[in-house]
Amino acid sequence: MNRVTFNTERCKGCGLCVVACPKKIVSLDTSVLNAKGYHPAQVTDMASCIACAMCATMCPDAVITVEKDVEKEQEA
Ligand code: SF4
Ligand code: SF4
Repeated sequence: MNRVTFNTERCKGCGLCVVACPKKIVSLDTSVLNAKGYHPAQVTDMASCIACAMCATMCPDAVITVEKDVEKEQEA
């Protein structure tokens, strides 16, 4: 599976990644507050992620790391 990781403590909850994701699987986690007092972004359906890295590209604070599943790539 592709993997998207968030440096949650650096997230300022601006929502740019939420808007950027073509699969609509990024949302702000309203159940969590980070040390800065923001709701950090999360991926709700990792299986649907196409590793396009739009979210990471949009993030002004380099919070997001996208790793493409290489094995999946080879199967395809
Ligand atoms: S890599 Fe692309 S599909 Fe995956 S969460 Fe980011 S914007 Fe969405
Ligand atoms: S774009 Fe970056 S700072 Fe903004 S909500 Fe997404 S992860 Fe957080």
